[in-house]
Amino acid sequence: MKPGQKLEMNDFVAPHVQVWEIACRCGCGFGTHFGDIDETVIADFEEIRARCGGESITINSGCRCRKHNEAIGGSPNSAHVEGKALDLSPPYGIGGFPERPEFVKICEEIVKDGGVGSKDYEKTGGVGSKDYEKTGGVGSKDYEKNGGKTGIVHIDCRTKPPKRRW
Ligand SMILES: [Zn+2]
Repeated sequence: MKPGQKLEMNDFVAPHVQVWEIACRCGCGFGTHFGDIDETVIADFEEIRARCGGESITINSGCRCRKHNEAIGGSPNSAHVEGKALDLSPPYGIGGFPERPEFVKICEEIVKDGGVGSKDYEKTGGVGSKDYEKTGGVGSKDYEKNGGKTGIVHIDCRTKPPKRRW
């Protein structure tokens, strides 16, 4: 397999991740080539999955082209645009799967060179923004609202320091 090589939607980019799960939802083809998704974030995903008992974890969003990212209100600096992020929607608390706070903790332990956050990350843009100051860590405002029991968890592997928490 070479970088840029075209993949089929049902090809695997990792033992438990198929192309259709991480490809840009607009159908532009971003995510359907070998190397489109960063191997670090995929490896982190596999490790998180294993730590959670090997249960399936839905990937809401992986690769996003700029156009699609803008269309869904993503931050212009979103790691999704670089193929370095995944939004996860796990079956919290079902069949022994960890509840969300525990799941976030597992993600934090495993994601070493990027960040872990909630949906609000897309809006706030990460470290340094006013919202970040307000929210002060994992979970964000939405986390406060719902007690941290529900919601997507964003993981990314952008290597720019510092490590982000929001
Ligand atoms: Zn697209």
